Amino acid sequence: MSDLPEFIKSLYEKYRFLDDGSLASYIPELTKADPNWFAISIVTKEGEIFEVGDSQEHFTIQSISKVFVYGMALEDCDRQTLLEKIGVEPTGDPFNSVIRLDENSKRPDNPMVNAGAIATAGLIKGVNATDKLNRLLSMFRRYIGHDVFIDAPVFMSERATGHRNRALANLLLNFGIIGDNIEEILDLYFQQCSLIVNCHDLAVMAATLANRGINPITKQQAVKPCYIRDILSVMHTCGMYNYAGEWAYRVGIPAKSGVSGGIMAVIPDKAGIAVFSPLIDRRGNSIRGIKVFEDLSDQFNLHLFDSPLEKCSFLDISQSSQESMVIGNR
Ligand code: GLU
Repeated sequence: MSDLPEFIKSLYEKYRFLDDGSLASYIPELTKADPNWFAISIVTKEGEIFEVGDSQEHFTIQSISKVFVYGMALEDCDRQTLLEKIGVEPTGDPFNSVIRLDENSKRPDNPMVNAGAIATAGLIKGVNATDKLNRLLSMFRRYIGHDVFIDAPVFMSERATGHRNRALANLLLNFGIIGDNIEEILDLYFQQCSLIVNCHDLAVMAATLANRGINPITKQQAVKPCYIRDILSVMHTCGMYNYAGEWAYRVGIPAKSGVSGGIMAVIPDKAGIAVFSPLIDRRGNSIRGIKVFEDLSDQFNLHLFDSPLEKCSFLDISQSSQESMVIGNR
């Protein structure tokens, strides 16, 4: 079966009752999510939309934001300056690990673990905290294509309970990676994590990365094309927490997940795919999300190292007769 709309419908039915995993609880507000929420969204670089389930349900973007803020820091600082402060090595450690920072390099291993993401937030330019937040929101607006908002209760919840992130920020200050405006930097980091999105938005954001930084719906340039390579590389090697290696092996698509249950993946030059289901495994990845991506990758030979001859052209939508499809709760 190679028909995309039928296939994502079948994946939705196959996994909608899979209830392994649990809601993220270390950020208290996230326990308010409904474990039944489930959506799959695909947006092609031509702007076609295929989605099923709760694609309009709101949730906070959490760690997926790290990808986009990294792109902004690249634009603000340039590649070399950024590399001196934040590496690009996968850690194999959990996202919130403190230990790695303290080793030889004295810099966070990569921008997808919390230490690296907080360092990245510290590099965003602006004359004051409000200016930095406004610049960040404008950047997200370009990717999403409509107005964006921060979830205030989630932000407050993260800020009140983020002791570990505060410890990371202090270590970063100790190593001279960030300045002493720790609370301002942490606020920006908590705000980026508390951005409200839905599964459809995530697919549009991923499709923008697939389309050399141009939002396929609004046609607005969200990030300079020269940095797409950097962004996709760190997604590919570090985007799925300490499951990144196995993900690269099994699924083989650059992706990023967040503890609120989103997974966003980029098929370069083709499409963005997002899955949302808030039940996560112990590493922080959506369980239904992983299953859906494994099946999609297998079915359509999406793995980066599948032979080009075997690659199914389901995403070359413009050449086929498939029409955009939305099923479910819009
Ligand atoms: N705001 C969360 C934290 O810093 C993000 C975690 C995530 O999605 O991995 O812990």
